[in-house]
Amino acid sequence: MKFPIYLDHNSTTPCDPKVLEAMLPWFTERFGNASSLQHPFGWVAEEAVEIAREQVSGLIGANPKELFFTSGATEAINLGIRGLMEAHLHKGNHLITVATEHKAVLDTCKELQKKAISVTYLPVNQFGLVDLEALKRAITKKTILITVMTANNETGVIQHIQEIGALAKEYGVLFLSDAVQAAGKISLNPKSLDTDLMALSAHKMYGPKGVGALYISNSNPSIKMISQITGGGQEKGIRSGTLNVPGIVGFGQAAEIARQKMASDQNRIGALRNYLEKGLLEMEGTSLNGHPELRLPHVSNISFEGVEGKGLLIAINKELAVSSGSACASITTKPSHVLSAMGIRDELGRSTLRFGLGRSTTETQVEFALQYVKETVHLLRGKKKLESTVFLK
Ligand SMILES: *Cc1c(COP(=O)(O)O)cnc(C)c1O
Repeated sequence: MKFPIYLDHNSTTPCDPKVLEAMLPWFTERFGNASSLQHPFGWVAEEAVEIAREQVSGLIGANPKELFFTSGATEAINLGIRGLMEAHLHKGNHLITVATEHKAVLDTCKELQKKAISVTYLPVNQFGLVDLEALKRAITKKTILITVMTANNETGVIQHIQEIGALAKEYGVLFLSDAVQAAGKISLNPKSLDTDLMALSAHKMYGPKGVGALYISNSNPSIKMISQITGGGQEKGIRSGTLNVPGIVGFGQAAEIARQKMASDQNRIGALRNYLEKGLLEMEGTSLNGHPELRLPHVSNISFEGVEGKGLLIAINKELAVSSGSACASITTKPSHVLSAMGIRDELGRSTLRFGLGRSTTETQVEFALQYVKETVHLLRGKKKLESTVFLK
């Protein structure tokens, strides 16, 4: 077995070799600018981008015309939230989101609050789910947008997106979902989920980093957007800038593979996750964070009572690449905002590991991880007890 074992697939995934292979020619002999349509270099690049647009939209059952490439989901989310709010300011200045969203959403909302946008942060219950009644109550005449992620990056909890979409539609409010973690893992269709906008990222689904997309429905006439990056007018003026042709080609290939492999991948990975989770929860003083069923099949977020998470991470991270809470927050010792919002007390929140399994995860790796974490937790708990006894004497 090769160490460290990678169990952090919610942070990023390795590029599928087929994705890399598809990308390579677009760096070298086919280096054309997809907007340079005066000669064949540009023509072939443009054609490749349009094929990728079909592949990525195919993954979510969308029309290729509804897909706009960006530098990643962070940009897609910024474009979606800022672009919509700016375009609808004459109508209202209120937006609704959830306390457990990714920082790309939360920090964008915080910034907009400085610009006279009013934001409601909905709470979640102990399972990480939004209360639909609370959502309904939060909607006012000034509400322009509801933004709720499809699945959470720390716990894998899947929100009731269909119901939220239906509610938004009923009240004439736009609905954006950050579907980064869900895309390629569970089947998704913005049309059937009444989702007006959806953010996607290639590197969370075995594609390259630095490329993502914003889906913008073409069947809701009330969607108006103001672009956030101006320039050459690429992507129908919604997002200017020379297209990242190799990245987009890789994204397309990754989407194609995800579409083909999703069902079998998730059966196999889900079984491994369940085995790992069951084994960990058999230990005393462990608990699962998130909804037991409404969850992505490859994620497990577990708290270990009486063990400091950072100590646990340091003790295992040469062998196991796992995360404590979210990657962006892992250098701070603050418990994750997601776990706090779920009502998990700070001390327990800090004693938490997130296991994110993926395509390359094997049974042997999972067996090792289970035994290794168990032993380390026992060891750390024993040591702590010993220290406190010594101290008491
Ligand atoms: C990773 C992630 C993002 C950010 O995507 P980038 O493409 O890395 O900018 C946004 N939301 C969620 C839920 C994520 O997991």
